[in-house]
Amino acid sequence: MSPVTEYRRERSPGVVTFQWTAEDNEGDRELIAAGTCPVCQCPMRRSFGPVQPLVSKGGFLGRRQDPGPEPWTTSCRCESYHQPRPANARGCGALLSLAPPPASLTGGS
Ligand SMILES: [Zn+2]
Ligand SMILES: [Zn+2]
Repeated sequence: MSPVTEYRRERSPGVVTFQWTAEDNEGDRELIAAGTCPVCQCPMRRSFGPVQPLVSKGGFLGRRQDPGPEPWTTSCRCESYHQPRPANARGCGALLSLAPPPASLTGGS
């Protein structure tokens, strides 16, 4: 067991390259980024909702507003128990910039 990193809400510098996969979820395509958090070194996974730009109601809640070439951001979502952590938070608090998924995954179908 490695020592557990303290929870810290902080942007991690640089862009992290994660492994992207696409999963079809009842007709909607979900993009999954999986990799190792560079701050706490835990494996983590983050799924992004369908990349359709418009949602008829509810706006962009939980979705990426403007899919494009910019890095995608996520907070750390690892399963480890980093302290001192707010009750509703997950991961180690790191804010990560992810290299965007390959065009083959985001290209329309
Ligand atoms: Zn962690
Ligand atoms: Zn982390």
